[in-house]
Amino acid sequence: MVSIQTADYGEHSNTTKYSQKTNEFKMKTLKELFLDEVGDMYDAERRIVKALPKLVKAATCEKLKAALQAHLKETEGHVTKLEQVFQSLDQKAKGKTCKTTVALLEEGGDIVTEFKGSPALNAALISAAQKVEHHEIASYGALHEWAKLLGNRKAADLLEEILGEEKAANATLTELALNGSDKEALGECGCHNDSEKECSDKQPATVRRGIQPAGMNRKRTGALV
Ligand code: ZN
Ligand code: FE
Repeated sequence: MVSIQTADYGEHSNTTKYSQKTNEFKMKTLKELFLDEVGDMYDAERRIVKALPKLVKAATCEKLKAALQAHLKETEGHVTKLEQVFQSLDQKAKGKTCKTTVALLEEGGDIVTEFKGSPALNAALISAAQKVEHHEIASYGALHEWAKLLGNRKAADLLEEILGEEKAANATLTELALNGSDKEALGECGCHNDSEKECSDKQPATVRRGIQPAGMNRKRTGALV
């Protein structure tokens, strides 16, 4: 027991001896990790800019359409803000394929296709969009902390702004799900908390109830990427 402890201390003091060097190495690693992740999100945001108009088009709830459209504008801003983050590091903006976003958008595209014409479509769209938001919130949460650790105030501020908008977008989607689309998915109309007439969104009742009229074009929407 004692000898193990001694061995442990011995190893530890060896590390301590090079603590200065180790710290420098750690800081360099964090900067690389930071840049890698900024590149990942730069790619993610540009994919989301392309995917959101398809979600807007697919949504049958006007409030959801408006929320997604508003987030598209913000997402275009995120691309610009990330370019400024790259600038703050004297780096050229460079994307690195964000595999998570590719997969989430592909799955989102599938669900839009599968639920087209269903009263559950808006609930499906909200869930797909929230998966993207949650990934962004996790990523920007880490990036914001890392920017602060690296002492890059400019990047930290930009990332905090993006994080705030992602959180707000996610909260809006939660509200829309709770106040309407989840109920609508059950076949009830809760979309606008008002009359069913107002919620019809110009679609025939058969479509809202998930009945596919004969001859209706069931064109595949495909992946959102
Ligand atoms: Zn974003
Ligand atoms: Fe987002």
